[in-house]
Amino acid sequence: MNLTREFLYQKYIHDKKSLKEIAEETGLPITTIKSRLRRFGIRKKPIKLGNEIYDNRDWLYEEYIVKRKGYTVLANELGVSYSTILDRILFFGWELRGHNEIDKGAPRRGTKHTPVSIERIKSTRIKKRVYFECFQCAQTTERVRSGYSRSGKKFCTYTCYKNYLKENRVETIDITDSALYKEWRKKVYARDNFRCKMPGCNSNSRDIAAHHIYPKKLFPEKQFLLNNGITLCKNCHEKTYGKESNFIDALVRVVQTMND
Ligand SMILES: [Zn+2]
Ligand SMILES: [Zn+2]
Repeated sequence: MNLTREFLYQKYIHDKKSLKEIAEETGLPITTIKSRLRRFGIRKKPIKLGNEIYDNRDWLYEEYIVKRKGYTVLANELGVSYSTILDRILFFGWELRGHNEIDKGAPRRGTKHTPVSIERIKSTRIKKRVYFECFQCAQTTERVRSGYSRSGKKFCTYTCYKNYLKENRVETIDITDSALYKEWRKKVYARDNFRCKMPGCNSNSRDIAAHHIYPKKLFPEKQFLLNNGITLCKNCHEKTYGKESNFIDALVRVVQTMND
């Protein structure tokens, strides 16, 4: 029995079957079904982000993507369950790394932080906290200094930031599952050699995205044109959020040069 994402999504979300029912149908233990659902990020209720350090997208990005710590390493450091971290990695749409790679990082097993050192870690985070008013909901919020500002505007949560983008009719991250889209993305990556093509960026990162040069919301007719796509690394892609139009000219030129 091959437990694919599609299969589990169909049974668990679409057919609203319980873990027990799926286990009976497939002849696999409930724990297997449960862990596979978790790994695919399939859940009946979406997670709600709170104010914990691991809810901070920028902080987690730094730890998981930049420092390449495994989610189990992070879970151990924070003294939380590893699914807490895993859920957020999936929620933010980052690629899950395999266990082999995770084990290359800091020790995953072995001694955990003592309560004293956990307190010390927390207190160093507290010192870096600031108060500000959210640009979207105007609530006064406390946040880690490094992670509260986007394009000069300050947001209490990533949700508020996304709502701001939505209301201002700016493209947000849209993970679409259509075959056409995947085909388009594949062609864009292949043409660009799976490397970021942002002028001035020399990143060799494999953490890439296929960016629509003319936003697909405003130019739906261009969304599957190879020439309207360009490969950007995660960092560069994030720089374009909400400012897509500022990058059009430069990126069109890059694609033109490649075609010449
Ligand atoms: Zn807010
Ligand atoms: Zn880049």
